[in-house]
Formats: sequence, C-alpha cells, structure tokens
Amino acid sequence: MGLYDPPNASGGPTITDDALPRCIAIDGPTASGKSVVGRALADLLHLGFFDTGLMYRACTLAVLDAGIAPEDEAAVTALILGIDLDVRWPEPNGPRIILSGVDVTAGLRSAIIEQTVSLISRIEDVRHELVRRQRAIAQREPVVMAGRDIGTRVLVEARTKVFLDASTEIRARRRLGEEQVEGRDSTFETVLAATRRRDELDNTGHRAVRREQAAEGALIIDTDAIGIDDVVAQCAELYRQVNPGS
Ligand code: C5P
Repeated sequence: MGLYDPPNASGGPTITDDALPRCIAIDGPTASGKSVVGRALADLLHLGFFDTGLMYRACTLAVLDAGIAPEDEAAVTALILGIDLDVRWPEPNGPRIILSGVDVTAGLRSAIIEQTVSLISRIEDVRHELVRRQRAIAQREPVVMAGRDIGTRVLVEARTKVFLDASTEIRARRRLGEEQVEGRDSTFETVLAATRRRDELDNTGHRAVRREQAAEGALIIDTDAIGIDDVVAQCAELYRQVNPGS
C-alpha cells in the first residue's frame, strides 16, 4: 500500500483527533451529483475532495488487467488485499489514482469498468479493505468524501452527512451529458438501462443507494428540482452549524 499524502499536506501531524468528525460524508446513487456537489463544497470550505468510486474503479481495472474473472471472489480478494494503490492530490479537489506507480485516473470511466465495477464492489472483503484505506485518508485531515457507504460505514463519526437523491431519468440525463462531452456514442435509452442496471447491482442492502438507507441524521436532498448552487449552500450551512467556528 502506498502512502496517502493528504490533499492539503503541510508537513503537520499525520493524524488529528478531530479529522474524522469534521469530514463531510456524501452518499447517493449513481449520477446523483455527488462529485459535482462534493467538489464545489470542498472548494468553498477549503477542504480536499475524494470520490471513493475511483478506488473501486481502479481495483476493477487491476482485476481486468490481471485477467481474473470478476466472479472469482477469492482471486479478486487476494489481488485487492495486496494491491499497490495510492491516492495523490496535486489539486485539493482533483485526486489522482496511482496503480502500481502509474496514474490511471483518466481511464477509470471506460465502458468496461462501468459494466464490471459493481461485481467487484459487492465483494465484502474488498469493501472491508477499501473502507480501511478510505478511513486512513480521512484520519489525516478533514475531507469531503463521496460514495455509497460513507456516512454509514466509512465516516461514521462525521458530523456532516448528506444523502443526494434524484430520479432515475434525471440521473440518466446527467450521465448522458457527461458521456457526450467525453465523445461517447451514447443514447438516452442505453444510459437509462445502464443506470438501472448499476442501481440494481449496487443495491445489495449494504450500501446507501436509496434514501431510506441514508445514515441516521443525514440531510437528504432531492436534486431533481434544485440547482447545484442551492445544494452546495444547504450542505455548507449544515457544515457550519455542526462545526462552530469553521
Ligand atoms: O461513484 P461511482 O459511479 O464512480 O462508483 C463506481 C461504483 O463503485 C459504484 O457503482 C459502486 O458499485 C461502487 N462504489 C461502492 N461504494 C463506494 C463508492 C463506489 O460500492 N463508496
């Protein structure tokens, strides 16, 4: 395992008691706006941002590169327990994922990874290992962290927990926009079907992908009808309320 340099590394103490409680946990289903909101919130509050989906995606890439069948849970787990995976922050809101010394961030949104990642992330031993690594990052300094189990499992101590929700159609439309910007040949129907498939696969009961699974006390925001700025403002208000003096 590599060394995780925290996003705002300044050579100070490596573990701070208050880092985990000050973190912001953002959960929600695929394309609910976690990254866009998380990044904007991190910029506003001068915190680092980390999208934990990137870790699951990098593990998926490693499994595919090794020629291991995603269904072979024992082989996948053995690979992930020893994986050389590092996270670096050249910019506080733009983490880079380094796999065996190579920056793989740019390739983590490929179609094959999108199709396979849920098969890797449903393996409990894989989740256990990545949760441990994600907590190690958050113990160094407060960050905004996005995923599916952040408020419920990774950052249980966080005082600020948010669950972002949106209808399947709106999420598919957002994802379609992103894929078109990337130059992909997607249609609304294919993206809608892929969104539904990922929702089903991610809905194993151990993750917060539906609002009733949100962490206790989480602020639940329906992003269908409100813009990013409003969502970010609501989250920042909660953060300031529960972290007086920030
Ligand atoms: O958020 P993103 O779409 O990049 O996540 C990719 C996949 O990684 C999700 O579909 C889910 O299967 C998995 N994931 C997870 N727990 C997290 C973050 C992501 O299971 N905390």
